[in-house]
Amino acid sequence: MKLFKAPVKKITKLTENVYEYDFDYSKDPLDFLPGQFFMIDVLDGNPVKAQRAYSIASSPENKDFFTICIKLIPGGRASSYFKSLKVGDECSFIGSYGRFVLQDSQKDIVMVATGTGIAPFMSMLSILWSKGFNKPVTMYFGVAVESDLFYLDILKKWEAEHDNFSVFITLSEESPGWKGLKGRVTPHLEEALIDAGNTAIYLCGNGNMIKDVRDLMLVRGIPNEDIHFEQFWA
Ligand SMILES: Cc1cc2nc3c(=O)[nH]c(=O)nc-3n(C[C@H](O)[C@H](O)[C@H](O)COP(=O)(O)OP(=O)(O)OC[C@H]3O[C@@H](n4cnc5c(N)ncnc54)[C@H](O)[C@@H]3O)c2cc1C
Repeated sequence: MKLFKAPVKKITKLTENVYEYDFDYSKDPLDFLPGQFFMIDVLDGNPVKAQRAYSIASSPENKDFFTICIKLIPGGRASSYFKSLKVGDECSFIGSYGRFVLQDSQKDIVMVATGTGIAPFMSMLSILWSKGFNKPVTMYFGVAVESDLFYLDILKKWEAEHDNFSVFITLSEESPGWKGLKGRVTPHLEEALIDAGNTAIYLCGNGNMIKDVRDLMLVRGIPNEDIHFEQFWA
């Protein structure tokens, strides 16, 4: 496990409350698997120490930076710390951690993300493309309203570039003018074509979605060992 410091290289606003932070890191190779996370020390001056987990959204093949993407929760301790950060500020990390990693298999892949739960999938997809993975990869991405969407351009670009990649976006709240899928992600997965026994399912985001989709997948005959998940919040 490595303790390391890295300065903020770039901050990008993705939606009203989701920000992407790039951290400079070129000292020595960063050691992580797509899907893993780092813990960050919340250095906000509070004598009660705090750490929070953030999935790595960039590819391990990047040699000089890594990216995390964060929903800033009003009043949240780490959220307030991130809000205060400026380019050049040095942050303290430990990692990498996590068993929510891309399995080395030739199975089809279904990814289901809610909100910033899409972060680890950005890292996983980068590696799948760089390895020339050619089995079907289907992503379901759920947010509340259209203005909560982010990473849409890159997902659409990958969909255009890779015949084996499909993205379905669904909005859970009433969204006038929205022509895509509506409602929560789970009902859309009831109808999805999934080859049980030959598909790896990856779920990331809020606990309710993970429970509902996991239960549904088990009912649909997906073996437990093919269902991988990372819960960000309850
Ligand atoms: C393995 C792992 C990886 C994670 N990766 C990411 C990531 O890539 N991006 C990311 O934004 N978060 C991620 N999280 C959540 C993150 O660690 C923090 O919990 C989150 O940023 C809130 O921390 P905070 O200190 O600002 O809020 P806190 O002061 O800890 O809590 C504020 C309240 O907000 C709730 N809450 C936490 N996250 C959310 C959310 N996304 N939406 C709504 N309510 C929430 C909490 O349950 C709590 O009630 C991850 C969590 C885990 C366990």
